[in-house]
Amino acid sequence: MEKKIKAVLFDLDNTLVDFMRMKNIAVELAVDYMLNAGLPGEKEEIIKEIFKIYRKTHIESQTALEELIINRLGYLDYKILASGIIGYQRGRDMATYPYPRVMPTLKELLRMGLKLGTVSDAPAEQCYNRLARLHLIDWMDVVITFNDTNEYKPSPKPFLLALQRLKLDAKEVLYVGDWPERDIVGAKTVGMVTVFARWGEHPDAKDTGADYDINSIEKIVDIVKSINEAEDKT
Ligand SMILES: [Mg+2]
Repeated sequence: MEKKIKAVLFDLDNTLVDFMRMKNIAVELAVDYMLNAGLPGEKEEIIKEIFKIYRKTHIESQTALEELIINRLGYLDYKILASGIIGYQRGRDMATYPYPRVMPTLKELLRMGLKLGTVSDAPAEQCYNRLARLHLIDWMDVVITFNDTNEYKPSPKPFLLALQRLKLDAKEVLYVGDWPERDIVGAKTVGMVTVFARWGEHPDAKDTGADYDINSIEKIVDIVKSINEAEDKT
């Protein structure tokens, strides 16, 4: 017998916020600003080099621009670095916003009396930074970042910590994410009800293993209602 859903937890990047679009826009502006400050080279090739650094280190690397400038000039030119950082921040501020229908869906879930939260692999600083930009911090009953467990999904640890903080059973929680191997596998392992977000970074994923597979975030409202109403009848 199923239990009633009492909370909906979300992956953050590429589920609530279009992270890769933000990253692409921020990097493009960073490069424009650095070219204006005197960095030699071609725009497209520099953009590629920055993403190569991200792949080699981490997509959240805070030193990618420094590394790029040193690679190109042999030393760190602070005029170029400062310009790049300003360009990056302007792009990031402009391009960090929720996917369509995120806000009304979350509002409806709150209205239905559900708790909300996020289980993210992002470092705490970047995770809270994005939640603040999205104006979502106050709506979240629980926020689990990489720093809370030092383990990435699909490790059960971040999911279990979320359950512990919510004081809920796994079957009372719906988990929504866009990365089958990390989000769906991890949430399933601990026993949560899983929803695959097909609008994220893996739109062509096959055999996601999720209990539900949706193209639009507002479908979550129907899923919760159908589970909870079925439970009412038993
Ligand atoms: Mg994601």
